[in-house]
Order: sequence, then C-alpha cells, then structure tokens
Amino acid sequence: HLDIRGLVARYNNATVLDGIDLSIERGEIVSLIGPSGSGKSTLLRVISGLLPPRAGTVALAGETINYADRRSLRRSRDKLAIVFQQYNLFGNMNVLRNVMVAPVTIQKRDKKTVEAEACALLAKVGLADKLNAYPDELSGGQQQRVAIARALCLKPDILLLDEVTSALDPERVGEVLDTVKMLAADNMTLLIVSHEMGFVREVSHRVAFMADGKIQEMGPPAQIFGTPQQPRTQAFVSRIL
Ligand code: ATP
Ligand code: MG
Repeated sequence: HLDIRGLVARYNNATVLDGIDLSIERGEIVSLIGPSGSGKSTLLRVISGLLPPRAGTVALAGETINYADRRSLRRSRDKLAIVFQQYNLFGNMNVLRNVMVAPVTIQKRDKKTVEAEACALLAKVGLADKLNAYPDELSGGQQQRVAIARALCLKPDILLLDEVTSALDPERVGEVLDTVKMLAADNMTLLIVSHEMGFVREVSHRVAFMADGKIQEMGPPAQIFGTPQQPRTQAFVSRIL
C-alpha cells in the first residue's frame, strides 16, 4: 500500500534519511519512534511530497511518486492526509467550513455530500455541537480533533500523524488518542509518529525504531518494548519506559 525503498534525504549537506525501507499494508498501523532529530518528521515530509528524496522511491497504492512531475505529486497527495502537532486550522472559518473547504474547493466534490460527511465525521470525533464554533473558541484537544476530521474528509488511503498530541495539555491528550484509536478500529491505514509510548504500544501493529536516519529495528510492539534485539533500541526503550 505504501512502499518505501532505499530512501535517502538531505538538508543541504546533512544526510537525514540514510536508506529507509518500509512497507505498510492496507489497514496496518505502523508507528515511528526514536530520538529527537532522527528523521521521523522528515520521512513524513518525503512521503507527503513536500521534500524530494536524493535517492530511493516512494510508492503509494502501486504508483511510484515522480517528484519532478506536478501531476504525479498531486495524485499522491490525493491519496494521503497528514496531521501535524500544530493543528493549522483556518481561523476565519468555523469548524464545519474548516472540514469542508479542501474536499469542495480542491477535490471539487459535491458540497451537499461533503457537508453530510463532514457532519458525520465531526459527530464521530465528539464535536457535533461545535459545527459553528471558530477555532479560537475551542480547546487544543478539540482543535486537534477538528484537524483529524478535516484530514479524514479528504478520504485518504493513508493518514500520517506527526506528534498530534505533543502540543496539548496532559489532560487533553487522552481524547485525541481515543480518536486515533477509533480510526484504528475502523481499519484506517496509519503511519504514526509519537512520543506517547503507552499509546504506540497499544495501537500499533508494528513499531519502527529510528536513529541516525535509519530504521534500526522494526517489529511488533511486544518485541520493541519488551524484548528489543538491538542495543540502540534497548537503550532508547529503557530510557523512556
Ligand atoms: P523530533 O522528534 O524532535 O520531532 P524528528 O525525528 O522528527 O525529531 P526531523 O524533524 O526529521 O527529526 O529532523 C531530522 C534532522 O534534520 C534534524 O537534525 C534537523 O535539525 C534537520 N532538519 C529538519 N528540518 C530541517 C530543515 N528544514 N532544514 C535543515 N535541516 C532540517
Ligand atoms: Mg518531528
């Protein structure tokens, strides 16, 4: 479904990704963990077409992204959605409009259909009573749930989540994680970057430990957190658990 081979990415002369191989199947949930600066966000940037790799390939739903071709990039962007730490909602639009705007204006889908879907998604993330609220009238956790509903309204084949809880107050983290767990129960394909190790362990099918631009170890959560094989993984896990 998502197939990454031999991926190399650099900023200026610094190699940030140094040969990443990663395949994710439809309905699979894979989490990336690793120290700050290990390249997790950079990998999501390359997958989402924001940063062209120096070598290697990314294929989404069978099509290899051609980073030099705008139409290829647009097709790949149509297949995925990404949610960041900062929710980046449009402050001048209410919640419902925030969720509807891209499907209607970019994907050119029927407004009434999109509105019905947006309302259903917002109900699902527990915000049925906030359709007309503006972002600055919502808590951080509520804004992040709007951002997730907005991403889902694009009907992505895969959803990328980059530290979606790290800007939130501790008491708001749980509600966003519950929303992600709901997506997992719906068989959404997810690539998650998170420092919430309890959550990663609970929700992931596989966990990849990244360091120095490489996936040092990948396996089921029980392996990565319970019986890590590589000394690097052992050191990381013992520090954070
Ligand atoms: P964190 O857990 O802190 O979010 P990360 O694993 O997501 O870290 P990246 O953001 O992918 O790490 O950064 C990987 C490396 O690339 C870091 O050394 C960072 O300083 C560098 N880097 C990231 N973005 C840029 C940029 N726009 N220009 C130059 N260097 C960058
Ligand atoms: Mg990051």
